[in-house]
Amino acid sequence: MGTNTHVLAIPFPLQGHINPMLQLCNRLSSKGVRVTFVTTVSVSKTLQTKTGSINLINIETVPDFTIQEVDGLDIYEIYIRSFRASITNGISDIIKKQRDSGFPVKAIVYDSVIPWSLDIANENGLKGAVLFTQPCAVSSIFYHMHKGTLEISRDEGSEVLLPGMPVMGLKDLPTLVYDMNSYPSLLRLLVEQFSTFEKADWRLFNTFDKLEDEILKWMATKYPIRTIGPTVPSMYIDKRIQGNNDYGLSLFKPKTESWAEWLDTKDDQSVIYVSFGSLADLSEKQMEEIALGLTETKCSFLWVVRDSEQSKLPQDFTSDQLTEKGLIVNWCSQLEVLSHRSVGCFLTHGGWNSTLEALVLGVPMVVMPQWTDQTTNAKFIADVWRTGVRCKENGNGIVTREEVIVCVNDVMKGERGREIRRNVLKWKDLAIEAVSEGGSSDKNVTEFVTELKSA
Ligand code: UDP
Repeated sequence: MGTNTHVLAIPFPLQGHINPMLQLCNRLSSKGVRVTFVTTVSVSKTLQTKTGSINLINIETVPDFTIQEVDGLDIYEIYIRSFRASITNGISDIIKKQRDSGFPVKAIVYDSVIPWSLDIANENGLKGAVLFTQPCAVSSIFYHMHKGTLEISRDEGSEVLLPGMPVMGLKDLPTLVYDMNSYPSLLRLLVEQFSTFEKADWRLFNTFDKLEDEILKWMATKYPIRTIGPTVPSMYIDKRIQGNNDYGLSLFKPKTESWAEWLDTKDDQSVIYVSFGSLADLSEKQMEEIALGLTETKCSFLWVVRDSEQSKLPQDFTSDQLTEKGLIVNWCSQLEVLSHRSVGCFLTHGGWNSTLEALVLGVPMVVMPQWTDQTTNAKFIADVWRTGVRCKENGNGIVTREEVIVCVNDVMKGERGREIRRNVLKWKDLAIEAVSEGGSSDKNVTEFVTELKSA
């Protein structure tokens, strides 16, 4: 296949959205598509361009945007509007520049939370492919909201029944849905993901067929969709595939890599890896309970506490302080950690990338969902895929130290732990099958490329 077919990829500039888009770009590029990844100047500076597959992707930048307070608008609304202005101003110039350089663009692949990218594509005579970076189950909930068909009762103990989905409690829905007043602008953003669902030329989902079989089949009755996940760097899925050993872009800089040597000193499957992703904002009380719970387990722990969260750590818990029992770092290569032989369990917020990574790397999870889709992901992890357990909150919305210990023990030991480990390995194999040559996600990417070529 030649490299004539050229797409622009526009991710939403957050770590959890950039990672899957970048990996999709790698896959497209490995199948002969010319890919230009469009992001802001400051995000582009965090690209690790020395990484093999990033070399195959062109990078174009749009101006950085500043956040200025506007009366009556919340911070998320301002952020979204500022990003939109930056992209809208820059993208037509990029399309023109590429045409003038002899590389005319055929389509834009855009993140579902920036649906107005399709307007830019169409105004420039281009096709549009929308990428959903959340699970299909979560997408379907926002789809129902968009269509006005989500009926929920606020009564204690009420159940939510949706086609293709397990019976869910109110608090299994994304937090923004069961608490609609918490972040109205974010809720709007997520519901509007479906504003271009019908008009887009392709609809891509970062999941795989067997993982979300029923809900994907239901979604496909609405419009043709394609699963292309899990978008975890290929080297970790199949060592035979030469590829990236990381995502190739990190908005956070680790201060130290001491975790690598520290993990080497530990026994197999003896360490709890703890991370709440790139955005979660835990209360000081919650941090204290986690800290004390981890201290009281018999396991060692490696805990990622981002710089912005470190002031919430209890006294005696300091970043980079390396002890036999625990190590706290400000950031790490999560893929390296999850694939280390000594990691036996992942105490996680249940972000979708973290969930897929744990699945692909075969690590059982203890899920402590914080917000957005994490509550729904936790429901599936604990009750559907049964690859982990979900922590229960007390009456004040806190997961206590005792609960942390019980959940970690459940996953690390005993019959429940053994069942979870068996399930994890089953899903790991199915995930590898999906992205390996001829697997469902691989076929879908190939078909997408064929259609792009002939579009
Ligand atoms: N991540 C990382 N190092 C860390 C913590 C997280 O590389 O120390 C990566 C992780 O591998 C994942 C992403 O950051 O790909 C977080 O995405 P996720 O969807 O799990 O959560 P979010 O940050 O969007 O809440």
